[in-house]
Amino acid sequence: MLYINLLYLQPLTFLKHNIMAYKISDDCTACGTCIDECPVGAISEGDIYVIDPDLCTDCGACAEVCPVEAIHPE
Ligand code: SF4
Ligand code: SF4
Repeated sequence: MLYINLLYLQPLTFLKHNIMAYKISDDCTACGTCIDECPVGAISEGDIYVIDPDLCTDCGACAEVCPVEAIHPE
C-alpha cells in the first residue's frame, strides 16, 4: 500500500516543483527587500538572492516588493 501511495505522490511532487514556485532572475541587485516578505523563509542571500522551490508556496509577496521586477513564477 505504501508503494502504491509513493507512485501517486511522486508525479504530484514533480508538478509542485515545476508550477508552484517563484524564481529570482539575474536582474537581482541583491538589495534584500524581498527576504523579509517571505512568510516561509524560502529566500536566501547570495551574489543574487535565491528561492528554494521546495519551500516556496507561490504566494507572490516577494515579487510585489522587488524594485527591479526580478522575481517571476517559474
Ligand atoms: S512567492 Fe511567497 S513563498 Fe515563494 S519565495 Fe516569494 S514570498 Fe516566499
Ligand atoms: S527584492 Fe529583487 S533585487 Fe532585491 S534581493 Fe530580492 S530579488 Fe533581488
